[in-house]
Amino acid sequence: MTTDPPDKTPKRPKPNRDDFTAKIRNALALRAGYRCAFTGCGIATSGPSDEASHKHVSIGVAAHITAAAPGGERYEPELSAEDRAAIDNGIWLCQSHSRLIDVNPIAYSVSTLRQMKADHEAAIKAEMESMKSAPRHTDFIALGPNVVFLGELVGVEEDTWSFSVGHFVIGDLSDLISYIDQYAAMDPYDQFVLVNSLGDGRELSRAPAWTKYNELVIKVGVRVSFPRIDAHRLPMGLALNDEHDLFVINGQLARVSGLDALPQNIKTCMSTIRGEVFYAPTYGTRIREYSNEFLGSPWLPELIKLECIRMASIPYVERNGLSASSTPLKAVRRVLKVDQISTEGDGDWFAFNFHLEVEGIGPWAAEIKLFIP
Ligand SMILES: [Zn+2]
Repeated sequence: MTTDPPDKTPKRPKPNRDDFTAKIRNALALRAGYRCAFTGCGIATSGPSDEASHKHVSIGVAAHITAAAPGGERYEPELSAEDRAAIDNGIWLCQSHSRLIDVNPIAYSVSTLRQMKADHEAAIKAEMESMKSAPRHTDFIALGPNVVFLGELVGVEEDTWSFSVGHFVIGDLSDLISYIDQYAAMDPYDQFVLVNSLGDGRELSRAPAWTKYNELVIKVGVRVSFPRIDAHRLPMGLALNDEHDLFVINGQLARVSGLDALPQNIKTCMSTIRGEVFYAPTYGTRIREYSNEFLGSPWLPELIKLECIRMASIPYVERNGLSASSTPLKAVRRVLKVDQISTEGDGDWFAFNFHLEVEGIGPWAAEIKLFIP
């Protein structure tokens, strides 16, 4: 083993040897992805050294396909010195395999080695091509309140959406199965799917189904998008001041309506904690719950966004069966982004930047404080 990288081994060329230059050795290593090209090997030829955090170990060899000097294996006297030292005459191998091909030149002929090299470079190329397509399973998807997974929306056909599942963030396959089992008897308010990349969600129209061949795929039946209210026509509500309190103007409680009502509609709705409203125990967000459970996790902002999507897209159905006339966030069509500005709260109030698509307005952004006790 050597601790020298392939590009920093300035071996002084011995007379009569047509060695590769450092540049060619380096190019061979790079084209091979720093992995041994010997069929079936593919071992990484460089990696970290235990000696020091800045050092690395290299076991890679720029091996000659036809020997560099007379007397070497597979020497071809008719080749020019340039051809012998050219990149086409090299193959990147680990030390074991560079020795193996030299002790067994019959088994490892020139054509065999050229084929190995071509196959290896093609495999490295294919691997890189597959990575060029967008990374998979990076979307956050919620199916009801207790199943959240990293996945991808892979199909939309009429009223059916299909997702491939990377892995579960909340719940697991058995939670998914019990969700399907209990679907018919479930509170309709828990029958939903939310997709972070769409910034939107849908009520379900039937129990989800899943299949697993190469990967887990979930199919859900969705209802049509629930209508939103044009922000200019938001109903009148009591206004809240910067201290989040009601206030009086001209002897009456101040009121707002239309677009002016939007920020405080978001504030009031997103600050309502699920379980806190006694007559509507399933109404409200789980932001406090998630903030406690996922504090410091990169998943927390995604989960907060999911809750915002839920309030924007899923109408609250009261227990008495009265159908909802709007979603809790009324005018919010899509949730583009929700960023918590600082983890330092003003008491129990925390500032968030909301980037939304609002019915009748289009893209809209505002800083809004939420109550997270
Ligand atoms: Zn090898």
